[in-house]
This record gives sequence, structure tokens and C-alpha cells, in this order.
Amino acid sequence: MWIREPGKVSDRLDFLGARENCLYLLRGRDMMIIGGGMSWIVPSLEIQLSKIDFEPKKLKYLVVSHSHFDHCGAVPYLKKKFPHIQILASAHAEKIFAKHKAIDFIAVTNKYAIDRLGLQSEYEGLDLKFDGIHVDRIITEKDIVDLGDGIDVHFLEVPGHTQCSIAAYVPKLKILFPGDAAPPPTDDENTVFFPGPQYHFGLFKQSMARLAGLEVEIVASEHYGAVTGTRAGRLLQEGLRQTERFRSRIIEMHQQTRNFDETVRKAAVEILSRNDFDFMGMGKEMQLTVLKTAIRRILEYAGLIDRTAP
Ligand SMILES: [Zn+2]
Repeated sequence: MWIREPGKVSDRLDFLGARENCLYLLRGRDMMIIGGGMSWIVPSLEIQLSKIDFEPKKLKYLVVSHSHFDHCGAVPYLKKKFPHIQILASAHAEKIFAKHKAIDFIAVTNKYAIDRLGLQSEYEGLDLKFDGIHVDRIITEKDIVDLGDGIDVHFLEVPGHTQCSIAAYVPKLKILFPGDAAPPPTDDENTVFFPGPQYHFGLFKQSMARLAGLEVEIVASEHYGAVTGTRAGRLLQEGLRQTERFRSRIIEMHQQTRNFDETVRKAAVEILSRNDFDFMGMGKEMQLTVLKTAIRRILEYAGLIDRTAP
């Protein structure tokens, strides 16, 4: 089953935020939020948290899967609202959050969405300005956080989408929180997985293959909701196939054009028209930037262009 809108996923898991931008509340004796969202979802989050069984003092952790603007924009708000929580992220994410340029970009993109959605008064009233993130605990491969009641959260480093990507897995419940290291659910299995390999194509595929090897009953994606049951198990396999299809199509196009910009133009016509991943209203320009980076990573990995710094 595909749970597309916020609500209860299971006794242990609530889907919060919005369809496009999802956070999850995982319950042991202690609680953990997975996903740092964007600031525009905060007004909904306030209502959702007031309606569910939620004791703020039990909330101990907030996991930031990676440093992209659409996965950490609500973190400053959450830290102000629940000052006792620990923010968990990778060492690479901490490095990014130490850069003024990155913080400015996250602030600007989050504010852009606020303005576009007409949420200026909520922005002021709820103090939604993005003013940086202090990581309280660095997460590395094989780290485990015990929430009590047998709910152990196991972390994996899954670079490729970004250098800083981590995923979380709960063996007892067979829940995977892949961040953007796995494809979000889609109606069209032939679609191209966005946002894809933004850092390194080889690592991206390798990380997804690792996640595909886990036994899952729920995949809780930070975009477009959670999938449960047999569909959850298929999602990662589909992702691997989508990724391979995307790679071969891009290489095929590049063999025809032999020109990077021309390949991007061709791919944009073919791919963006079929894809509804609109980056929370950030528009075509953002989609094109993301597509261009993914194409660059594929061609670099194939040795068809030289590697540039991410
Ligand atoms: Zn991302």
C-alpha cells in the first residue's frame, strides 16, 4: 500500500508534514523524528502534533538524512520548540552546515517556498527563519540508537545522492528511512527517479543496492509518503532499474550529441516533461539544475567527461 498523505502508518510510526515533504515520528519508549523538512510544512506540523498522542519530553532525537534544503529547513524551528532534542546527522552534513554559503542557500530556498505559498504571517508568527543547524551527534556507519521497547534504529552511510547521506533502518519493524538515497514512490515505474545521483553515480548505485538488500515492510520516503507490504520490497528494486535505465538513456543521448549541453537539452525535453517532481514549487529552473548535475555524474562515471567538483 502507498500512504500518500500524512497520518498513521502503524502504531509505531506517524507520517507528518506534507505529501511532497515528509517527516516521520517513530515511537519506542523514546521518540525520534526522521526528516528535517522545509519550513513551509511547519504550520501543518503544529496541527498534526497537537492531534496525535505526543509527549514532547519523550521526543529525544531528530535525524537529518542529508543537507539538502528540502530535508533540513524545519530543523531550526523544531530545535527551538523542543530544545532538549539531539540533532543527528553525518560528519559531512555537519561540515556543510558550517558553511555560510550553504546556510544562506537553505534559508533563501525555504523562504522562497514560504512566500510562494503566502505563508508570510506564519513565517513571522512561528519564527521560521532558517538560521543554521548545530549537529549534536555525528552519525557514522553502524551507529545504533536505542529508543526502548526493542526499537533500535540502525544507521547506514549511503553516499551518492549527496556525500552526506545517511539512512536509518529499524530491524524489529523492518522500516527503512532512505532519505533521498532511494526513489520516492511513484505511479509510473518507468519514470526517472529524481533527484538521483547529485554527488557520485557509482556510489549512488552502490548505496541503493545496499538498501535493496534489506528486508523491508515499510519504506518511509521523505517525498511522497510511505509504502508498505510487498510494494515496499519492490521499491528499491524498481529504483535500481530506473537508475540503470536513466544511465543508459543518457549515455545513448550523449553518444549522439557528443556535447554536454546538447545532451542536457535533449534529456530535459524527454525527461522533465514526464516527471512531476517539482521540488516543492521551486520550478523548472531548479529541476533543470538537478537534472544537469545527475547527467554530469553519469557521464563522469562513464568516463565520457572529466570529473568536476560537486
Ligand atoms: Zn536531496
